[in-house]
Amino acid sequence: MVVIDGKQVAAQMRQEIAGEVAAMVSQGKRPPHLVAILVGTDGASQTYVGHKEKCCNEVGFRSTVLRLPEETTEAQLLERIAALNADTDVDGFIVQLPLPRHISEQKVIEAIDPRKDVDGFHPVNTGRMISGLPSYLPATPDGILSLLKYYGIETAGKTCVVIGRSNIVGRPMANLLSQKGWDCTVTICHSRTADLPQVVASADIVIAALGQPEFVTGDMIKPGAVVIDVGITRVPSTRTKSGYKLLGDVKYDEVAPKCSYITPVPGGVGPMTIISLMKNTLKAAQKQIYGN
Ligand code: NAD
Repeated sequence: MVVIDGKQVAAQMRQEIAGEVAAMVSQGKRPPHLVAILVGTDGASQTYVGHKEKCCNEVGFRSTVLRLPEETTEAQLLERIAALNADTDVDGFIVQLPLPRHISEQKVIEAIDPRKDVDGFHPVNTGRMISGLPSYLPATPDGILSLLKYYGIETAGKTCVVIGRSNIVGRPMANLLSQKGWDCTVTICHSRTADLPQVVASADIVIAALGQPEFVTGDMIKPGAVVIDVGITRVPSTRTKSGYKLLGDVKYDEVAPKCSYITPVPGGVGPMTIISLMKNTLKAAQKQIYGN
C-alpha cells in the first residue's frame, strides 16, 4: 500500500510555478495577483484563506485578502466583485465559501468574470469543462487528477465511484474522470443512493467527498482499490493545541491495509487543492499579461 504524499507533490509543483513567476518577473512583467474575498469570521474559512495567502507568497504571487464584515449585503459584495472584474491589476479572484446565509452563493458565482474565475465555479467554466474545452478546472478535482498522474495510477477502463455530488467536488470529479484521457467508468453516489456500500465495494477507484467523517469503512473497499479521501471535518479534540483535529471521510486504519494507494487527511488532497488554484491564477495572469 502506498500513502499518497500530497504535501510532497504540492511542494514540487509549487517550485515549478515559482520558476514560471520568476521568469515573468525577469522579463519585466508584474507577478500574478490573486485576490480572496472573505465575508464574516468563519474559523475554517479564515484558515483556508490563510493557507492560500501563504502559498501565494511562496510562489511569488501578489496576494490580497479583502476581509468584509458578516453584515455585508449581497449588493455590496456584488459591487466589490464588479470592481475586481474591471481591475486590470487583478488576474483572478475567489470568494471564499460558505457565505453568510443572506447572500446567494449562486448570484455571487455568476457575477464573477469567467476569465477571472480561478476557482472554476462559474457556469461558463463548468460548461466548457464538461465540453472538454480549455477552462479553469475546479481546484479540488484538478488536484486529485494531478495526484493520479504523478503516481502513474491507471484509470483507463477502471471503475470509479465518487461519493458526493456537489458542484465543487463530486460532480466535476466524476465528469473529468469520464472524459477522454482518463477513461474511467464512473458512478456517482449521493445521500439517496440505494445499497451504497455495495456500489462502493465494486470500485477500482473510490473518491470520498461527502463530508461525513470516517464514513467509508474497510468492508466497503475492494482489495487493491485506490482510495482518495477529500473530506475534511473539524472534530473537537483534547489532544491538540487548537482544540480540534481533522478527520477525513475514510476510516483510515481500516481502509489503508486493503488498498493499493490511499490519501491521508491531512496531507493528501488538501495541499493539492491550493496548488491547483495557483495553477489557475498563473494561467489567468499569463492570459492577461501576455494575451495568450
Ligand atoms: P457538500 O456538502 O456540498 O456535498 C456533499 C455531498 O455528499 C452531497 O452531494 C451529498 O449528496 C453527499 N452526501 C452527504 N451525505 C451522504 C451520505 N450519507 N451518503 C452518500 N452521500 C452523501 O460538500 P463538498 O463541498 O463537496 O465537500 C465534501 C467534503 O470535502 C467536505 O468534508 C469538505 O470539507 C471537503 N473538501 C475538501 C477539500 C480539500 O481541499 N481537501 C476541498 C473541498 C471540500
